[in-house]
Amino acid sequence: MASIFGHGVVGYGITKLIDNNDLKWLLLAAVFSTILPDLDVLAFHFGIPYEHALGHRGFTHSILFAFIWSLFLMLTLGRKNKTIWIFVIFLSTLSHGLLDAMTTGGKGVGFFIPFDNSRYFFPCRPIKVSPIGVERFFSEWGLKVLFSEFKYIVVPVFLILAARKLLRNHLSKK
Ligand SMILES: [Zn+2]
Repeated sequence: MASIFGHGVVGYGITKLIDNNDLKWLLLAAVFSTILPDLDVLAFHFGIPYEHALGHRGFTHSILFAFIWSLFLMLTLGRKNKTIWIFVIFLSTLSHGLLDAMTTGGKGVGFFIPFDNSRYFFPCRPIKVSPIGVERFFSEWGLKVLFSEFKYIVVPVFLILAARKLLRNHLSKK
């Protein structure tokens, strides 16, 4: 994983980019959805190996899971604004796997589980992998992770949001 901060910032960015109505709960749900896939680290406690379809970076990091989860939230919390909900939640959930596939460590991401159990990385992997567990996060490793996420996640997300704001202000003056 990238760290929960890195993932969460992307969820924030996606929501701000798509949701012009400041929908209630959507931002919170989106940020939560960016972190949710890593609940699969529990698999280690049940003795499920990393490579397994239900192991870490397995099914919960897949495209199908993002779809099912976004469908579920759309039908429960997002009934009044279905399109925005499904887009934001789907992209936020999937963004988790996409970021993981750009990290320097661990095993690849099972985007196509259950249809294909292979794990994938992107060719370009600038983000330092985050340690699993809180204790190890508060270390030099944790600092390096935050720094690399700042460079490769936080800065781009805020540049995109700023560009969008400028563009909107510009268009509204016309
Ligand atoms: Zn992950």
